[in-house]
Amino acid sequence: MDIIVATGNKGKLKEFKKMLSGYFDNVYSVKDFGLDADVEETGTTFEENVLIKANYVKAKTNLAVIADDSGLEVDALGGAPGLFSARYAGENATDPDNRKKLFDELKGVEDRSAHFVSVVAIIFPDGTTYMGRGETKGYIMDHEEGSNGFGYDVMFFSHELGKCFGVASEEEKNSVSHRAKAVKDVLNKLPKA
Ligand code: IMP
Repeated sequence: MDIIVATGNKGKLKEFKKMLSGYFDNVYSVKDFGLDADVEETGTTFEENVLIKANYVKAKTNLAVIADDSGLEVDALGGAPGLFSARYAGENATDPDNRKKLFDELKGVEDRSAHFVSVVAIIFPDGTTYMGRGETKGYIMDHEEGSNGFGYDVMFFSHELGKCFGVASEEEKNSVSHRAKAVKDVLNKLPKA
């Protein structure tokens, strides 16, 4: 069976392609079909948002769809940026804008504990839906390191890897990441062929 990844985020797409290639014949992106995944995320939880995203793409194709809604939760900020991670510094914020805002918010803050959360949904052509969730813990450094990954990776020190995601290889990040854990969780729930 083929599957389409409901994201316009190149970093996420790369991770999904690696993780899903053993399970699906072809892993397509929305761009391969001239589609986008730009739907307003009006939910109040990662679970609600991922279903909005996956169903938006599902309505436009006859393929199985996988989507994730993810974000970074910082303890000292009461879980912010959380659901708003992609637009923390404003509607059209870039990754560097969002990171600068987070550095600013954490100036002088001692407890910099944080975790990434990912909720993944797979919807099959007949509408059957499976969901998975994953988290990975670490802290927000006071500087950036490396240039790998995307989003907040270059400022996130992973406890599980003992290094910043910005200097981790793709394989290393995929061995501990919230998204990898959520994908594993959802794949484990699929009926065995
Ligand atoms: P979404 O596309 O609405 O799920 O937004 C997710 C946002 O959370 C991304 O734009 C990033 O800012 C952040 N994020 C999620 N996963 C990661 C990750 O693996 N590394 C770095 N940032 C991430």
